[in-house]
Amino acid sequence: MSDYDFDLFVIGAGSGGVRASRVAAAHGAKVAVAEEYRVGGTCVIRGCVPKKLLIYGAHFAEDLKDARRFGWNVPDCGFEWTTLRDNVLADVDRLEGLYKNTLNSHKVELISERATITGPHSVKLASGREVTAKVILVATGAWPLIPEVEGAEYGITSNEVFHLDECPKRIVIVGGGYIANEFAGIFHQFGSHVTMVNRGSTLLRGYDEQIRDRLLQISMTKGINFRFNAKMERIEKNEDGTLCVRFKDGDPVAADIVLFATGRAPLTNGLGLETAGVELDEKGAIKVDEYNRTSCESIYAVGDVTDRLQLTPVAIREGHAFADTVFGDNPRTVDYACVPSAVFSHPPLAGVGLTEAQAKNKYGTVKVYTSDFRPMKNVLAGREERALYKMVVDATTNRVVGLHMIGPDAPEILQAAAIAVKAGLTKQDFDDTVALHPSMAEELVLLK
Ligand code: NDP
Repeated sequence: MSDYDFDLFVIGAGSGGVRASRVAAAHGAKVAVAEEYRVGGTCVIRGCVPKKLLIYGAHFAEDLKDARRFGWNVPDCGFEWTTLRDNVLADVDRLEGLYKNTLNSHKVELISERATITGPHSVKLASGREVTAKVILVATGAWPLIPEVEGAEYGITSNEVFHLDECPKRIVIVGGGYIANEFAGIFHQFGSHVTMVNRGSTLLRGYDEQIRDRLLQISMTKGINFRFNAKMERIEKNEDGTLCVRFKDGDPVAADIVLFATGRAPLTNGLGLETAGVELDEKGAIKVDEYNRTSCESIYAVGDVTDRLQLTPVAIREGHAFADTVFGDNPRTVDYACVPSAVFSHPPLAGVGLTEAQAKNKYGTVKVYTSDFRPMKNVLAGREERALYKMVVDATTNRVVGLHMIGPDAPEILQAAAIAVKAGLTKQDFDDTVALHPSMAEELVLLK
């Protein structure tokens, strides 16, 4: 018999925590998971999943317009935010239920309370109950960061955006990263007047420059407004509840909603990590080794709280590797090379491997192949928007080291192509593959 109440105590039932719990339990461990909010974490409850459903909803705005060019008699259609919102939230409930079932069917005890670490093997629950565990896993995720600006309390974050009472007529989105670009596309399609406010001069740092430039150009053409190098001075609330965003330079912008999409910080505050000697880095993220072990031997951490790559599939892999390592007698690490990622902007973009600039730094000489084309659906629809695919090749070995694309369905196409990049295939391997015609993806094997 173990001296502990549980073999594993997980704090946080998000993507990483649920996967770790389930796999550890399947390996025979006695597992409990504490969650103070809802099961599923950011991705399921207030991130990837509801966001993607809103993206689908938003796409109908253009699809309905385009349908006329394809012969459909489409009457003028109105959009009802509350219908979409409620359907999306109902689906989130459904998914949360599935996550709970998974925990249940693996005999993982779900404790719906906040848990705080009190030592290397002990946690205290909000109810006052003390629990011991041989191993503790911290999978608490991250939380939206809000910059210090007067009146910031009038703004919202991605936590609240899925619950709005009505679709804003005017929205100011602060930030130029993933969330900002995704919600700019969503609200623009819903008919909101969107202004993106960026402290610097670039969007989506880390993505290939040409692809980012294309998104900016398309977004501006669609009618999204941009303020670059903007210094926000304050947000004021008017008597009628509307907002006014004031800047050090330039005209103020009126808005119904100000959405902060200015990054996410690891959620470590008040967790009691210091009681067990768990070290944090300068950004407040939990420091872990390649096996997800913290500076305390019995405490591990996975997912956004470790701030390695803030992506759901990465957290899931880390949680799985942790459980196999500690409870499955199968030490495993996660390979962070060639992780594909996408921004579900409008149109979406996706990338894997090195950008052109990164590849030049690493390999010296690179060959770059691009296809800049108008998807045939856009041509018939009378839509000027062009897609851009870009392949970066190490000139010495001919190996494809980066693939970047923007255009309809780019994330769907890139996921498959990422296998080839991850496998280290060459430009010749792509060329040797017969095109699948007519498709957009065929451009990948026809690059000159
Ligand atoms: P990002 O890191 O993508 O972008 C943050 C943006 O906010 C940047 O433009 C940054 O500017 C700006 N910013 C940061 N601090 C300040 C500040 N103090 N004042 C003004 N602007 C500021 O963060 P997001 O919040 O968009 O998303 C968080 C994370 O969630 C992402 O990094 C991603 O890992 C994940 N995510 C992934 C998605 C996906 O896979 N499709 C979708 C949504 C989120 P600068 O460039 O100058 O630093």
